[in-house]
Amino acid sequence: MTKTVLVVGAGQAGAEFALAYRAKNSTDRIVLVGEEPELPYRRPPLSKLFLARQMPQAQIYLHAEATYAKQNVELRLGLRAEAIDRNARRVRFADGSSEPYDTLVLATGGRVRSLSVPGADASNVRYLRSLADAQALSALLGPGKRLVIIGGGYIGLEVAATARGLETQVTVLESMPRVLARVTAPELSAFYEKVHRDAGVVVRTDVQIDHIEHGHQGSAVVLKSGERHPADVILVGIGLIPNTELAADAGLDVDNGIRVDGHAQTSDPNILAVGDCANHHNRLLNRRLRLESVPNAMEQSRAAAATLAGTPTEYAPVPWFWSDQYKLKLQMAGLSQGHDQTVMRGDPAKQSFTVFYLSQGAVIAADTVNHPPEHQLAKRMVAERLRPDIQRLADDTQPLKDLFITNTERKA
Ligand code: FAD
Repeated sequence: MTKTVLVVGAGQAGAEFALAYRAKNSTDRIVLVGEEPELPYRRPPLSKLFLARQMPQAQIYLHAEATYAKQNVELRLGLRAEAIDRNARRVRFADGSSEPYDTLVLATGGRVRSLSVPGADASNVRYLRSLADAQALSALLGPGKRLVIIGGGYIGLEVAATARGLETQVTVLESMPRVLARVTAPELSAFYEKVHRDAGVVVRTDVQIDHIEHGHQGSAVVLKSGERHPADVILVGIGLIPNTELAADAGLDVDNGIRVDGHAQTSDPNILAVGDCANHHNRLLNRRLRLESVPNAMEQSRAAAATLAGTPTEYAPVPWFWSDQYKLKLQMAGLSQGHDQTVMRGDPAKQSFTVFYLSQGAVIAADTVNHPPEHQLAKRMVAERLRPDIQRLADDTQPLKDLFITNTERKA
């Protein structure tokens, strides 16, 4: 009998799941429901090429509409799922309709964390998650415009770089003592702060926002210290909240994301969860984690499709991520939390280097700037928890792969 696989959330993960499952199963009915009116699209260009007006909108979509039709994936866009009835195995939508399911896949992603200071509700205080957000922000950038970015994380820094490319005046305000503090080593933060300052960005760290003023002369972000940063537009980039309410209201296990195992299985055998909204158990790292990245959305969705198709493949990746700022490609492998040593390989002044993070002699993470082949090897090192000779690791005159081979031989 034909089963219905209902996917809620038509972003990177939902779309990938639908097509990956269709590749494995030609008969089940697949329905892909998304709240946004757009065909599924990729978000990374929203802070990079698309925001810079260098990518036409047509290129942002993951697939043409015809691809879903050809693959017999029913698309229902502009429709919000409001409740799951797990007993009846049915999802109710905002327009009053409902859909039964045999398997439900939750791919609901996340929403921006909002800033709650006086003045933060004005129309020139913007966020960046959707295509519509990027279109609106892009129109506000350009010569003579003043952009103040609240939050020196990836999105804030990528937007800063793009806005400078559009000749916007840019200030970045970060509450931590350094940018990218939650995810990278001090060396990397210092490197990116310098890169941005050299490009003309005002970077202020360790600052707290008091309120945002709006007057005849424009707006200003006012710090607790009293310092004022005039702005025409303010971008808030202070993190993501996973969309878990649908799951929590239905009684699924939720804790910083919908809890799933290494096969994307939730606490209900008929419900899977994938992408930014899912908190998975990663056997390789022996811990739970919720990742916000395209590689996670893609690879976890493929694992979920395999689970449902009856050919389960455990999802236990080395997490990885990239960020493009100016002409710099940052690629991160592994998770650096818990490291007790960092090793710098290469010279930041040459804008091509890697910071390795080790715990008790084993490589647990690596951040690579402008050196993609080294990133690939670093990923392998993390997967194998390699214990390299530190002096050789730091010496970039020795190819990383030789060190890898030596270590393998030593292990043998
Ligand atoms: P989403 O893409 O958020 O999709 C979820 C979808 O579900 C949304 O369309 C939402 O509207 C819909 N939805 C939610 N609730 C419901 C409901 N109740 N009913 C119906 N639909 C619903 N990652 C990288 O790896 N590299 C990068 O360089 C990078 N750059 C980024 C830049 C920006 C500006 C942003 C915003 C993100 C970036 N990311 C990057 C992160 C990456 O885009 C996300 O990790 C990825 O999009 C996650 O995919 P997802 O499908 O899980 O979630």
